Amino acid sequence: MADYENVCYLIHFERPINKSGTQHYIGFALHLNERIAKHRASKGAQILRRANALGIRWEVVRVWRNGSREAELGLKQFGGKNLCPRCSKFRKVSARPREARLFSLVR
Ligand SMILES: [Zn+2]
Repeated sequence: MADYENVCYLIHFERPINKSGTQHYIGFALHLNERIAKHRASKGAQILRRANALGIRWEVVRVWRNGSREAELGLKQFGGKNLCPRCSKFRKVSARPREARLFSLVR
């Protein structure tokens, strides 16, 4: 993966990581590769540590340019599931005009 800077990203877990069914994580990173390496090493967010400890596989499924804490919160309002290409019923980006207006997609 290219080393994206200042991005928001969406992580999809292969199965829910808790009883409330959490299966996504949205974050903001200055350097995405560094952040992902930390997540892999369980040195980042609690939720990723938990997934790693449970042996639940995960991957970055979306990345948005011009990331910020504000954008992260904005994306969280959509809900990870609705933004996830694996889980959303709106699998095509073009089917998500509201989101496309707010954030420019990298992948
Ligand atoms: Zn998903």
